[in-house]
Amino acid sequence: MSTDIAEFISARYDEAEALAKEAGGYLNSGTPDELVIDLSRFVARGQPIATSAIVYIAMNRPQDRLADIKLKRAILAEHKHVKADWPHPCDFGCENCHYHAEYGSMGAGWCATVRQLGTEFDQHPDYREAWKP
Ligand SMILES: [Zn+2]
Repeated sequence: MSTDIAEFISARYDEAEALAKEAGGYLNSGTPDELVIDLSRFVARGQPIATSAIVYIAMNRPQDRLADIKLKRAILAEHKHVKADWPHPCDFGCENCHYHAEYGSMGAGWCATVRQLGTEFDQHPDYREAWKP
């Protein structure tokens, strides 16, 4: 289990990206309306899938998920954590959020932005309570 939330988040993005790419070959073909027609032929728990659920699936296209992951990876990259010049209360901090013109990088630990990005995966078994914003 990682103690590095940035590594943890990046691993979840890797998993989601791989799944979106794999699903994209099928789900990116045709129009959303065609996908709604195809999905309406399936059943869940013995019942036809609700139209709202079908539309939701059709509207969450793999290419959109990939764009979302790309955006979040860019945000994560903007919040790189480095060894602190002033290690208090811990020895690392965000080079963006915890930088002070006089003291340099402050040891404030994981910044709020990275902690918020991590909450997307707070149900994952490797998510740590200490990472909560
Ligand atoms: Zn930050």
